[in-house]
Amino acid sequence: MQFDTVIHGGTIATADHTAKADVGIKDGRIAAVAENLAGGDHRIDAGGRIVMPGGIEAHAHIAQESSSGVMSADDYLSGSISAAFGGNSSFIPFAAQHRGQSIDEVIATYDARGARSVIDYSYHLIVSDPTPEVLEDQLPRAFARGITSFKVFMTYDLMNLGDGGMLDILTVAREHGAITMVHAENNDMVKWMNKRLADKGLTAPKYHAISRPELAEQEAINRAIQLAKLVDAPLFIVHVSTEGGAEIVRREKFNGAKLYAETCPQYLALTRDDLDRPGMEGAKYICSPPLRDAATQDALWHHVRMGTFESVSSDHAPYRFDETGKFLNGSDVAYPKIANGMPGIAARLPYLFSEGVVRGRITLEQFVALSSTNAAKTFGCDTKGRIAPGMDADIAIWDPEARTTVTAADQHDNMDYSPFEGMEITGKPEIVMNRGAVIVEHGELKAKEGQGRFIARQPADLRGKPGYTAKEFDPAQNFGTELC
Ligand SMILES: [Zn+2]
Repeated sequence: MQFDTVIHGGTIATADHTAKADVGIKDGRIAAVAENLAGGDHRIDAGGRIVMPGGIEAHAHIAQESSSGVMSADDYLSGSISAAFGGNSSFIPFAAQHRGQSIDEVIATYDARGARSVIDYSYHLIVSDPTPEVLEDQLPRAFARGITSFKVFMTYDLMNLGDGGMLDILTVAREHGAITMVHAENNDMVKWMNKRLADKGLTAPKYHAISRPELAEQEAINRAIQLAKLVDAPLFIVHVSTEGGAEIVRREKFNGAKLYAETCPQYLALTRDDLDRPGMEGAKYICSPPLRDAATQDALWHHVRMGTFESVSSDHAPYRFDETGKFLNGSDVAYPKIANGMPGIAARLPYLFSEGVVRGRITLEQFVALSSTNAAKTFGCDTKGRIAPGMDADIAIWDPEARTTVTAADQHDNMDYSPFEGMEITGKPEIVMNRGAVIVEHGELKAKEGQGRFIARQPADLRGKPGYTAKEFDPAQNFGTELC
């Protein structure tokens, strides 16, 4: 067979094994994985390197207005470039509906934004206004187009749907094979804490951490899971930040719930002490749920290692340290008025490789699963996330020994800081490919604006997740109803 490209001499890493082999690429797809492949118009020497599926970033806010109207600093061009420099070949940011908007209008808006991407992309819909037209007509149309996941909020007054709204949407999702992602924090607990802190005049950035208690996350994670179990719908818990939350996820997964979850590098790498940096510096570290403590980091690493989480995602939510972002409401405001979120799309894989694989906390195979393969399965990217014949040639070639110090400039995003700045990292992506095209090579961008393609996705892969039948929905219980 004649190949367009052969990657030779490297160590192939997948989610279940590593082996020395060459990769032959033809027409943007992997055509062969075997020893000593000859030929290739273009040959890439991967000696001493790891050859893995390109990262799939499943949680990023790109060209997205928050519910309070702040536009993220990265659009699909800068966000995808930053992702590519971080070893990603595709990403799935959010397409956010705000109250009053139709889903069709939202998708049309994001299609125009996404067209600038240098890597393949899809969206998770954020649903904040589940009217009957949205539930019965617009969402099913979005699913049919391959947008098979969407996110809802249990917190924020402008976003949270209430438990009944969640049940409605989970039911629609289950019927269409879609997966519901949830930001789980108890809205009233957070509001009550905010009021207590405000009454005492405690408004510095560091109080943000206190304002969103661990129990608020644990309660909401548990509630979201029980709601999903009642209607046996697949559920994905985003950015788990607490030990208690992770424990609930682990227990319910073990009991068969159609449950998926992620955590993020910031919860593994940073603590609430970062919110207490001098002056307003702490504002850089405001995100929700908030950073916790060192004991939580250890607990979350334990859960990463034990398989509680499908993915480690960045939750890249870039708001600059100026009046366009963090300080849109002024430079000396109380913490609730500071934009929430931090960047990290380029740092995700290097951080996870360095702190995970190099430090012996996770295996190389787990690294591949957590950064790419599982996201492909969970979110139905059926031609991505694996190095195997027939798959898209989305590949990251890693130097496992390169040592770097994180700088904001190396993130290649539109941000003016990185929360990981100064961190010593071992291992970095040298060459990144998307459908056979080199997009990043030795620190240089090779991709052109708009060369990424929209990914029409499949339903979530539910294998290994038998689900849960609530007694009241079980025909064998003879309740005499036909609710299910
Ligand atoms: Zn997020």
